[in-house]
Amino acid sequence: MSAVLMDGKGLSAQIKEQVRAHVEGMPQRPGLAMVLVGEDPAAQVYEAGKRKDCKQCGIYYETYRLPYEVSQEELVEVVQLLNQREDIDGILIQFPLPEHLDDRAVQLAIRPDKDVDCVNPSNVGDLILGVDSFRPCTPAGVMRLLNEYHIDPAGKRCTVVGRSNIVGKPQAMLMLLQDATVTVCHTKTANLKEECQRADILITAAGKTGLITGDMVKEGAVVIDIAINRDEQGKLCGDVVFDQVAPKASYITPVPGGVGPVTRAVLMENTLAAARRHGKG
Ligand code: NAP
Repeated sequence: MSAVLMDGKGLSAQIKEQVRAHVEGMPQRPGLAMVLVGEDPAAQVYEAGKRKDCKQCGIYYETYRLPYEVSQEELVEVVQLLNQREDIDGILIQFPLPEHLDDRAVQLAIRPDKDVDCVNPSNVGDLILGVDSFRPCTPAGVMRLLNEYHIDPAGKRCTVVGRSNIVGKPQAMLMLLQDATVTVCHTKTANLKEECQRADILITAAGKTGLITGDMVKEGAVVIDIAINRDEQGKLCGDVVFDQVAPKASYITPVPGGVGPVTRAVLMENTLAAARRHGKG
């Protein structure tokens, strides 16, 4: 078997075009603000991507760049200011924050109706309860990719590698909400290989180059690689050893060009949804 390559770039372009067309007809355009603390080079790259996406979709965008030493009070003040502004519908904060800052307090400070990456505990609770609300962009992007390729999680065994609050856990929850039977793996999992081999749908978000090898994947499995790593040559790659896994899988995402672009497009969709909630049409 040779896997179908899941085209995240193509799906992302489609989603962004739908957002752009909707925004064009709105009397007031949606607005997104991103808050960056410190000078992490990777975060600067994400920021540039978001700026570009917003421009493409007709969404107003601005960035708050705060110094690494910013205090908790100053950061929360910025969030509260954004909460109050009518031109800003979505607020995105680059987590994790430096150690002296309290992620949770900042997550709680974001108004739930502007929480476009679903980090406020009230939105996380809605996600677990299956209440319609914002979905975190990366796991929601994975669900969009599965849907695009008519892959129905219902009744399938799904293994998620990774249990972070922003990727692994919500991913497992979204698969469960779509009736998959879900196993979540982490660094203390006793036999990762066995857990992966069982999966009809294997979703990996460990951030470890070379973690998922060919012998860990069942023939015909759907393999979704969320990770964004660098290999020894500095090239972008995921957790999956692509050359070994692709011949066994039925569908597989490339890195780059798989989950990443869809994540970005879902952020545009969530910002539009926030603006509509705010009565912008
Ligand atoms: P994270 O907070 O570091 O979490 C990694 C998770 O993987 C942890 O739960 C960890 O287990 C588990 N893990 C690590 N090594 C493992 C191993 N050898 N065996 C089994 N489990 C292992 O990272 P994250 O924020 O969730 O991000 C994960 C990856 O996704 C990163 O590569 C990141 O760059 C990428 N990412 C991509 C997108 C996108 O748009 N495509 C968005 C966000 C993140 P423990 O809990 O036991 O430590």
